[in-house]
Amino acid sequence: MGGKELDYIKEAFEANYISPLGEQITKFEEAIKNYTGVQNALAVVSGTSALHLALRVLNISKGDLVFASSMTFIGGIAPVLYENGELLFIDSEIESWNISYELLEDEIKRRKKANKKLPKVLIATHIYGQSAKIKEISELCKENGIYLIEDGAEALGAKYEDKAIGTFGDLAIYSFNGNKIITSSGGGMLVSANSELIAKAKFYSTQAKENHIYYEHLEYGYNYRMSNIVAGIGRGQMEVLDLRIKRRREIFDLYKNEFSGVDEVEFMPELPNSFGNRWLTVISFKNANPEKVRVKLEEHNIESRPVWKPMHLQPLFKNNKSIVNGVSEKLFNSGLCLPSGTAMSDSDIKYISDEIKKCL
Ligand SMILES: *Cc1c(COP(=O)(O)O)cnc(C)c1O
Repeated sequence: MGGKELDYIKEAFEANYISPLGEQITKFEEAIKNYTGVQNALAVVSGTSALHLALRVLNISKGDLVFASSMTFIGGIAPVLYENGELLFIDSEIESWNISYELLEDEIKRRKKANKKLPKVLIATHIYGQSAKIKEISELCKENGIYLIEDGAEALGAKYEDKAIGTFGDLAIYSFNGNKIITSSGGGMLVSANSELIAKAKFYSTQAKENHIYYEHLEYGYNYRMSNIVAGIGRGQMEVLDLRIKRRREIFDLYKNEFSGVDEVEFMPELPNSFGNRWLTVISFKNANPEKVRVKLEEHNIESRPVWKPMHLQPLFKNNKSIVNGVSEKLFNSGLCLPSGTAMSDSDIKYISDEIKKCL
């Protein structure tokens, strides 16, 4: 925690607004808007629910084609299944580890030539806090009438050409789950420049109640709105976001320094015109087996994790189409997520790096 969270929770108690509305929610949404420059924000219970609302307000329904990054986390994908959309996964590019612009463009061209349907929406993830080529992707989507949802769950604070990620798409999500760069204990935010989309999402997030004194329903919604208590925590966390990013980036640089001259280890890249929040420091090995390294580190009580298993390799999606170039599979087979928490000291990082070097 950053320091002010308990004060804000206390404010919520003193105002006697615990849930579902209150000033902490408004202030948390304001803080996100100020930080990212996005015009409209809606605080909800999770990043997953934010993504679900994004699909609902874009009217994604049975049989609608959805393109998505294969290198992502299931929370950014599962809502497409809730709405019975048809998912097609697109592989990564080596220079950002995110969705390959080239594969995406080729697939759109190919479909146009063959008179095949284009996706209604693209979900582009900014993995591990690293921006995708989001400006180019957003232009490509606009030219072809494809909605763009940015999954910025891991990437709050990241920028592309000095513009916050989350401001390029028609809609974008952030997550404040316990493991993310900042946390509200659990929560998410849906953001958009389009105030009508956010108003509609708010309607769906509070059970789709029509404007009557009694409960009247033309449509169904969800109980997805964030509580005022949780928002108090989120608001406090926003005050330390820049500090967290600074330290995460330092941690990345410290690791990188430890491995300078070690040919075997490569670090996740950063596009030259982008700024990542370096949520996790992720490396890949040229030859070493990352699982062997992980088990060895575990013996020293150092927790590391495999790189996210791409969606096109998930048994759940064995019948889905995918456009593959081998990049995300290679990263899954050669990569390792290192401890990246801001509570670590510089000497912790040296210790971890030394243990990794012993495995090589
Ligand atoms: C964490 C995460 C989500 C889901 O967010 P929750 O708040 O945990 O529901 C979605 N997409 C990505 C890429 C994530 O890392």
